[in-house]
Amino acid sequence: MRVPLIAGNWKMHKTTQEAVQFVQALLPYLAKNRVWIAPPFTALYACTQAAKGSALQIGGQNLNENEAGAFTGEISGRMLIDVGASFVIIGHSERRHVFHETDLVIRKKIDRAFLSGLIPLLCIGETAEEHRKKNTQEVLNRQLDTALQGVSHQQMHQLIIAYEPVWAIGSGQSATPQLAQEMHQWIRHYLGKHFDPSMANQVTLLYGGSVNPANLADLLAQPDIDGVLVGGASLDAPTFIQMIQMGNKT
Ligand code: PEP
Repeated sequence: MRVPLIAGNWKMHKTTQEAVQFVQALLPYLAKNRVWIAPPFTALYACTQAAKGSALQIGGQNLNENEAGAFTGEISGRMLIDVGASFVIIGHSERRHVFHETDLVIRKKIDRAFLSGLIPLLCIGETAEEHRKKNTQEVLNRQLDTALQGVSHQQMHQLIIAYEPVWAIGSGQSATPQLAQEMHQWIRHYLGKHFDPSMANQVTLLYGGSVNPANLADLLAQPDIDGVLVGGASLDAPTFIQMIQMGNKT
């Protein structure tokens, strides 16, 4: 039984005070679904303190693949654990395309997350051009082959995968529920082939890309979509609360 997961990625938004107010507003609405938030690094500790004792999970948006060292401006897995984070987003399209993270670096980050005791939330997805050229499966295959190299069956039970077509992120143009389902089914099939079908059935697969209260229900109704990773629509507390409430009905 895969418990639905509604995750918010705040990117480079919110001061500590704004983040804490948001978390406090959210707490009364937590119910049967999993709710995760990835605030900016500066607000992580304040958010984990505000969420203490609740089911709300707080995570990082990125981590460095190294354990420690001379990496100015970077954050380690140990530091994320230290401030109470339980998960970390890895391979978000903005990390891949704006900060030029390669599949290999993403694999190292997954290793580091596990070594640090963090749940990796791996993002994969094709660009608009790859989508147009019908190369989606080839791209996802490459991203998954590298990212999951060396990941054990036991670790796979923890890992979360978010399918986020790059053309849908922040564009207001979500993938249709049918297309998203098709890709999620393909990812589950991939996992079944490379690990085993019963494990593949247990892995939580999220959809991300312009999710909002208007398209959430149709996405969550798809059999292989276990939840969503939300960017823009996760920044406004009433909107995100509305989405949590919708998720609780599934
Ligand atoms: C994201 O950044 O992961 C995302 C899905 O953004 P948005 O919901 O704004 O498209």
